[in-house]
Amino acid sequence: MSKNVWVEAKQKKVKAIDTFAKEYCDFLNNGKTERECTDFIVNAIEKEGYVELEKLIKSGKSLKAGDKVYAVNMNKSVIMFNIGKESLENGMNILGAHIDSPRLDLKSNPLYEDTEIAYLDTHYYGGVKKYQWVTLPLALHGVVVKKDLSTVEINIGEDEDDPVFFISDLLIHLASEQMDKKGAKVIEGDQLDVIVGSMPLSSNKDEKEKEKEAVKANILKILKDNYDIEEDDFHSAEIEVVPAGRAREAGFDRSMILGYGHDDRVCAFPSFKAMIEAGTCERTACCILVDKEEIGSVGATGMRSQFFENTVAEIMALTGASSDLSLRRCLANSNMLSSDVSAAFDPTFASSFDKKNSTKLGHGIVLEKYTGARGKSGSNDANAEYLAKLRAVFEKDSVTYQTGELGKVDVGGGGTIAYILALYGMNVTDCGVPVLNMHAPWECISKADLYEAKCGYVAFLKNA
Ligand code: MN
Ligand code: MN
Repeated sequence: MSKNVWVEAKQKKVKAIDTFAKEYCDFLNNGKTERECTDFIVNAIEKEGYVELEKLIKSGKSLKAGDKVYAVNMNKSVIMFNIGKESLENGMNILGAHIDSPRLDLKSNPLYEDTEIAYLDTHYYGGVKKYQWVTLPLALHGVVVKKDLSTVEINIGEDEDDPVFFISDLLIHLASEQMDKKGAKVIEGDQLDVIVGSMPLSSNKDEKEKEKEAVKANILKILKDNYDIEEDDFHSAEIEVVPAGRAREAGFDRSMILGYGHDDRVCAFPSFKAMIEAGTCERTACCILVDKEEIGSVGATGMRSQFFENTVAEIMALTGASSDLSLRRCLANSNMLSSDVSAAFDPTFASSFDKKNSTKLGHGIVLEKYTGARGKSGSNDANAEYLAKLRAVFEKDSVTYQTGELGKVDVGGGGTIAYILALYGMNVTDCGVPVLNMHAPWECISKADLYEAKCGYVAFLKNA
């Protein structure tokens, strides 16, 4: 049986939980996109002595136990290594999480005007309940890369003085037809267009010559004046529409955090913090923080890309083991925690969960043997032997853990990056933090679970 972390937590531990939660909120507030998370993490680990792989290769130095190195992939994902005392052929202890989150992306031709209101057209990213995204303050985060390859960073809607953006919903007075629709159709994908202006460009031209779309023209003028962006620059931009505002403590007891993007930053944060805290271990410690999990781990920056394998090959070569056989051995002998969120039991929707096999808020880090859907399809279904080892590792360091699976059989399901690493023949299981209202604009986690996750990851890197 799992237990509630708070029950036995002494004052000192409660303080540690709170301090860690504050640091995490700072990460959430500064990392609302995979690019922002990558920047934040690189800044943090460079201060801890991590050196960029490319720099190391150019310097001609080799790698030895205690060396810390990282590699960034296209500004959207990062892998870090702390070289252990044992040979890399014996395998690594790997933490893997993702730093992309569900959101709305701007289309390539986003800006238009309809009836003197200016809009940005979006295409949603990942699994979202579309009706949750209307009538919320929204912010724009991302980059516009111009033809000369200069990059304009966009971050509008977070400062107190910034404007915010929003998507309208139909007033209840006129919504009788809408309210009869299925949830999936109440708001449809193409209705998720963000309102960005309503003021026409003022001009001295007479009525006949005035701009046809003067509100859009005014927005274009503002974009040009403030950011030096032309309309066509949206063709080479990645701008994400996310909930505006910071993560907040939730509850009278402040035991929870309501924030955007807990999935999966609530695992990414304790993962890279654990790398720092664990220091140099017997086995090489590795942390993978990837992009594109929410759309199937595709693309050059997703887990299915060769980037991870190529980077491990580079690392091995720098330790003097450059054969393909050494690389195969290293990967096959590795242990991995696929650190991703689990669905916390929600009493309001109890019928969707199997209570005795659900995770509970405040009951610690989650060991999830399998994910998937419809008869475990798409899951890697971890080995009993590996799970036994992890139980022992957690218990040795007094880490509070629980087991769980995502909802009742055949109610739904989900996948993670676990099965991709399992392809190498390594031991992998899912191991993360329970989340309430996962994939909503504002998700909720327990501070206690966040802290236990960090403790669990440190124990894993040291002793697995
Ligand atoms: Mn996830
Ligand atoms: Mn997800």
